[in-house]
Amino acid sequence: MLKESWFDSHCHLDMPAFDAVRAARWSAAQARGVAGALIPGLEPAQWLRAQACAASLGTGSYWSIGLHPWWIAKQPTTLTPQLLAEALSAHYSSAGCVAIGECGLDGAIELPLAQQVPWLESQLAFAQDKALPVILHQHRAHNQLLEVLNRYPGVIGVVHGFSGSLAMAEEYIRRGLLLGIGGVVTYPRASKTRATVQALPAESFLLETDAPSMPVYGRQGADNRPEYLGEIAQAVAQLRGESLAQLATRMRANGQRLFGI
Ligand SMILES: [Zn+2]
Repeated sequence: MLKESWFDSHCHLDMPAFDAVRAARWSAAQARGVAGALIPGLEPAQWLRAQACAASLGTGSYWSIGLHPWWIAKQPTTLTPQLLAEALSAHYSSAGCVAIGECGLDGAIELPLAQQVPWLESQLAFAQDKALPVILHQHRAHNQLLEVLNRYPGVIGVVHGFSGSLAMAEEYIRRGLLLGIGGVVTYPRASKTRATVQALPAESFLLETDAPSMPVYGRQGADNRPEYLGEIAQAVAQLRGESLAQLATRMRANGQRLFGI
């Protein structure tokens, strides 16, 4: 369908939801021009799974190490933000590991934001120290996240699954971050995010599916798949009045610049 080659910058293909269908989902994605994916880290116990998954996808796929806010409460009580930093230190130079995260803040989970902050800070401090990009998860905590980011100047990365106004987007761009644009942009009713994507500087974003989450328009109720990245690309290209070839070239450059891949 697409002759361009795409990179799914946020894809949880390592998740058990894909166990029975992983190879089939990945070959379907490749057949539709998805040449690589980044498998995000969620918690220390999952990092080697992310690494193995990325390796199984072949050259052009990568993984990251981090502690996602949803997984904080599930960690052994012996883990501290300091010990998390030591675990990051033991894994960050492994083959194919290109970023720290997902990490971030979520205002819609039971764990109070104040208890999420120390975990985010240990990951930001590590990323700053090693000059590695971060993959940020932000949900209903935009202002609090900006406040924390202000304490870690120079940290680069991507705010994944972005939806929101251009003013919000600009707050991240100003701090050196890119925006991960996913399935939201395919929904006609997502007028605010669609208007934002239309106006974003070309060097300020990446494309992602967040599979198995964030289904594209018309495919609600089923697990999302990396092969649908092309539908996101088409929506973005159309909104911006660009050709798919132009968009693909730009996305490759943005991914290379951020992740050094
Ligand atoms: Zn994710």
